[in-house]
Amino acid sequence: MADYDVDLFVIGAGSGGVRAARVASSHGARVMIAEEYRVGGTCVIRGCVPKKLLVYASRFAEDFEDAEGFGWTVPKPTFHWPALIHNKDREITRLEAAYTTTLERYKVGLVKGRAVLADANTVRLIATGETVRAKYILVATGGWPHHGPAIPGIEHVISSNEAFQLPELPRSILIQGGGYIAVEFSGIFAGLGSKVTLVYRGENILRGFDNDVREHLRNEMRLRGIDVICGKTVTGVQSAAERYSVRLSDETGVDVEKVMFAIGRWPNSKNLGLEALGVKLAERDCIVVDDYSQTSVPHIYAIGDVTDRMALTPVAIREGHAFADTVFGGRPTTVSHSDVPTAVFSEPEVGVVGLTEAQACAQLAKVDIYKTTFRPMKATLSGRNTRTFMKLVVDGLTDRVVGCHIVGPDAGELIQVVGIAVRMKATKADFEATMAVHPTAAEELVTMREKAASYTRAAAE
Ligand code: FAD
Ligand code: NDP
Repeated sequence: MADYDVDLFVIGAGSGGVRAARVASSHGARVMIAEEYRVGGTCVIRGCVPKKLLVYASRFAEDFEDAEGFGWTVPKPTFHWPALIHNKDREITRLEAAYTTTLERYKVGLVKGRAVLADANTVRLIATGETVRAKYILVATGGWPHHGPAIPGIEHVISSNEAFQLPELPRSILIQGGGYIAVEFSGIFAGLGSKVTLVYRGENILRGFDNDVREHLRNEMRLRGIDVICGKTVTGVQSAAERYSVRLSDETGVDVEKVMFAIGRWPNSKNLGLEALGVKLAERDCIVVDDYSQTSVPHIYAIGDVTDRMALTPVAIREGHAFADTVFGGRPTTVSHSDVPTAVFSEPEVGVVGLTEAQACAQLAKVDIYKTTFRPMKATLSGRNTRTFMKLVVDGLTDRVVGCHIVGPDAGELIQVVGIAVRMKATKADFEATMAVHPTAAEELVTMREKAASYTRAAAE
């Protein structure tokens, strides 16, 4: 121990790094953590939290409109983007301070600045040139927006990072991508009043999600005025008098005030000194780890987005906690990456857990599908043209609910709870035996009785 300044050095004070540092410390380890930007990382500073605040802001537009059907007279509301960004920034600063206090409380030494590996047990702090000897090193450096192959005018394109800090709300914006961020920011900007064009290279947005979910959400987005263009990519961006002329792969063009790409994030694994030490990287530079988050160099571990297992905050946190329990708590712990509930904070929201219909058909001998689409009760008086969608995917042999897919208000909240039932291997009969809560949308989950489809392996092939 005497050879080392600390037992653990964590590079990156984001969701995963902060959790790992404080749990390792509570197990008695001497811990230091370095952060080159702001404590809290992507989720707190320019991810989940500010995104959700902007989502809340964007939803007021529909609330004001809907209020009329319930007897309210609402004067024409106006929206002030700088006020929203100011208030959002204030909240982020508060959270950053809370994270910093937590680290202090757990006696984790915080270094503000970039850290890299000088050798297998030595971390170099770039700002001062100081070195720290550590018995274990945890790489928790997260990811960064990746803009894809260079195209003319790529320098005009913003990512979600800049979207959080725009001085003005753009009157029009083109967003390329069909994943979480593109879909969520389309809803945010459209709700706040921008004219939104979403350009996605594939057949339909949210690849990997259940096909019915993808179709339903795309229709709902169109109903909210978002122009969803599929099967095309952006091939060039030309600046002209504070506007941008965007060229698409079919030689058509779109003229907008802002262009944003959300076409994936790549792990922050470069220029850390990892390759020189023989730490194995895989496709897209993600760090290869085993079930205990151990890299190919035994005392170097990696967690969260830099490992590219599942780029979600709760997953990074679990991985950080499991690492600390394994290495410093004497309790080898792995993290299950199956049946992870997830939500897309689009408008309306998507909440999913478990297998899609297609995945179930590929994996199981018999699959039963239950699904429903209905007008939410609130829409009856508001007159809003919107529908909620719910689907249960059931293993036809065991009756176990192996997937649940929801598009509608509060889908994220609902799927958190359904996720418990799916994880506990609840059957369709358990769902049906559960008394409905009336009147709610969620009661549909326990009252769907008619199979919408039933497949046996032979039929599915
Ligand atoms: P990060 O939180 O990214 O932390 C890494 C930290 O390391 C950063 O602070 C970085 O500055 C620092 N760092 C990097 N290199 C160095 C270095 N060499 N020296 C010192 N410090 C360094 N997930 C959800 O579950 N729900 C959501 O709603 C959600 N919304 C999102 C919205 C957006 C716009 C984005 C971009 C992401 C969202 N995510 C969401 C994903 C989530 O933010 C990430 O999965 C999570 O933050 C990953 O945590 P991490 O600890 O791996 O990395
Ligand atoms: P995603 O991986 O979710 O989506 C990337 C999108 O970009 C896909 O539609 C992909 O298409 C498309 N794409 C990839 N490369 C290109 C290219 N060269 N040209 C054109 N299109 C391309 O990434 P995001 O950036 O949206 O988000 C990163 C991750 O952050 C998410 O995967 C998620 O894990 C996490 N996140 C989670 C959120 C949540 O939990 N609510 C919210 C925001 C982010 P294709 O599908 O065809 O490959």
